[in-house]
Amino acid sequence: MASPTTITAVTSRVLDVPLPAPFRPAWGRGEVQSSYFMTLIEVHTDAGLVGITAAEARSETAVAIERFVAPHLIGRDGAAPEQLTAILKGAEIVGPPVYCMEIALWDIAGKAAGLPASKMWGQFASRVPAYCATGEVRSSEQRVEDCRRILAEGFKAVKLRFHSDDHRDDIQVVEAIRKELGDRIAIMVDANQAGLAPGFEGHRQWSFRTAVEVALELERLGVVWLEEPLPRHDYDGLRRLRDRLGTLLVAGGENNHGVHEFKLLIDRECYDVLQPDAVLSEGVYQMRKIAALAEAAGLLIAPHTWTHGIGLLANLQLVASVPNASWFEFPHEPPGWPASALSQMLVEQPWIDADGCLAVPDRPGFGIELDHEFVERCTVERHLIDKRSLQAIR
Ligand SMILES: [Mg+2]
Repeated sequence: MASPTTITAVTSRVLDVPLPAPFRPAWGRGEVQSSYFMTLIEVHTDAGLVGITAAEARSETAVAIERFVAPHLIGRDGAAPEQLTAILKGAEIVGPPVYCMEIALWDIAGKAAGLPASKMWGQFASRVPAYCATGEVRSSEQRVEDCRRILAEGFKAVKLRFHSDDHRDDIQVVEAIRKELGDRIAIMVDANQAGLAPGFEGHRQWSFRTAVEVALELERLGVVWLEEPLPRHDYDGLRRLRDRLGTLLVAGGENNHGVHEFKLLIDRECYDVLQPDAVLSEGVYQMRKIAALAEAAGLLIAPHTWTHGIGLLANLQLVASVPNASWFEFPHEPPGWPASALSQMLVEQPWIDADGCLAVPDRPGFGIELDHEFVERCTVERHLIDKRSLQAIR
C-alpha cells in the first residue's frame, strides 16, 4: 500500500553557481575558477514532502541517477532509507557514486517525523566548533593578515594549504603566523596529496621522506593536524608516518569511498582523524557507522565539506549526532570563495556565532531551505524521472 512518503518522482538540475571574484584553488594548479557546478536533486513523495540533496558534479551524476537510481526509487518508501541503500551501493558499480542520494531520503524521513536528522539520530551537540578552511596558496605576509581578519571574524582555527614548489616555503607561512600571533589561532594543514581530479597532474607529489619532514616541522610548530600527506591508498605509508608522530594528528579520507574502505583505514591505523563527506565518500547515515567504528578505535571524525551548502548542512547534522567529532570544516576564503559562495542556493546561509561555532539547524530533515529564484537563475540543465517517463523507458 502506498504511504504518504512513497516516492513519485526524482528531478535533477545542473547549476552553474557564480563566484564573487576569481578563485585559485590550491589543489588545481593553474586553475582560475569563476563559478562551480553542482547537481541539485529533489525526491518528490505522494504527500508532497520533498527530499533535497546535491552532488558535486555536472551532468554525470544526474545521468547516473536518472538511469541507475531513480527508476528503482519510484513507488518505494522514501522515509525508509536503509531499505534503499542497496540501490545506491549497486549504482556505484555501473556509474559515478551517488552517495549524496542518501541525504534526500533522510531529508524525507526527517520531514515526515518533524525532526532534524541530528535529533532522529540521538543528538550529541546543538552547535559545533568550526575552523576557517582556506583554499589558496598565499604569501606569509598575506596569510598573517588573513589570520588577523579570521580571528576578528570569530574563528578559533584556520586550515592552510601546502602546495608550494618547495615545502619549506609552506612551513614558513606557519612560522610567520606563530611569530606574529603566537598560539591565538589553532592551525591545521592540508597537503591534498591523496589524489586529484583528472587534469591536475602538475601537482607536486610528496615523497614519504618529505611527508615525514613536513610533519615533524608542523609538530614542532604545534599544528593540530596534517591532512592527506600521502596517496589515499598508501595504507602502509600513512601508518609508518603516524607511528613517528606524537602530538600532530594525521587526517584524511575525503577521497576514500565506502564503509568498508574506512574500516580498512581504521584497521590499518592510517589516520587519527577520518574525513568522509556525505556527498563524496559515503551516504550520510552510513557515515554514522564509520563514526561508530572510529569511536571504538579512539579516533575522531571531521567531515570534508567543501562541496556546496547542502553538503555542508548534511555533514553538520551528522557530526551533531556523534560523540567523537573534531573541528568542523567551514570553507571561507575571500574574495573568491567567501563562506556565502558555498551556500548561495540557501535562504539562510550558515555563519559562525561569537564562539566560532556553527549552530545546527533545528528544522526537520537537514534544514535545507532553497532560494528558488537563485536556483532557477543558475540552472543550465534538467532531468526528470516519474511514473510516466518510467513507462516510456520500459
Ligand atoms: Mg582536504
